[in-house]
Amino acid sequence: NNKIERLKQVVRNIPDFPIEGIQFKDVTPLFQFSENLKDLTDVLSSLYKDKGITKVVGIESRGFIMGPILALNLDAGFVPIRKPGKLPAETIEENYEKEYGFDTIQIHKDSLSADDVVLIHDDLLATGGTMHAAYNLVKRMGVKKIYINFIIELELLKGRSLFPDDVEIETLLKYD
Ligand code: 5GP
Repeated sequence: NNKIERLKQVVRNIPDFPIEGIQFKDVTPLFQFSENLKDLTDVLSSLYKDKGITKVVGIESRGFIMGPILALNLDAGFVPIRKPGKLPAETIEENYEKEYGFDTIQIHKDSLSADDVVLIHDDLLATGGTMHAAYNLVKRMGVKKIYINFIIELELLKGRSLFPDDVEIETLLKYD
């Protein structure tokens, strides 16, 4: 697909960010230019048009960019997953292991219900730890079905392997 190939050229590699030795994929040029933003929106939305998505869940903070755009396009609502101490009402949380130490994410307890079909969105799949915690959080809320979406997948890190085989994970731009 032409659009996908073009979008792949737009993502920048930033060496040694945020620390030395890391090759960071910078997604901001995908949002910066209207043509890229429109193509990205079209391709992502078309993946989920007929899935009956009722809520898009976005992971702080790069999941807050395309998440609401996708929600609007799919006639769904938007729900944020955030770092601790940010969501004001009652929350449930998941702890997960990162490369160095642990991290926690939270979601509002009343944000999803049993009849929701949920699409969880984030910008990039690396080890999968962040999304796996988000998946567990949404699963605990007893929703009807969960889809997972990323703009970018770093395939060598095999983040997909953390998820059960029956979970549909779609990624647009794949890198080694
Ligand atoms: P994981 O938990 O899969 O190891 O890391 C994914 C999380 O870290 C995502 O929330 C993502 O935004 C962030 N992340 C890790 N590496 C990169 C990167 O190279 N580029 C971007 N844009 N985000 C990254």
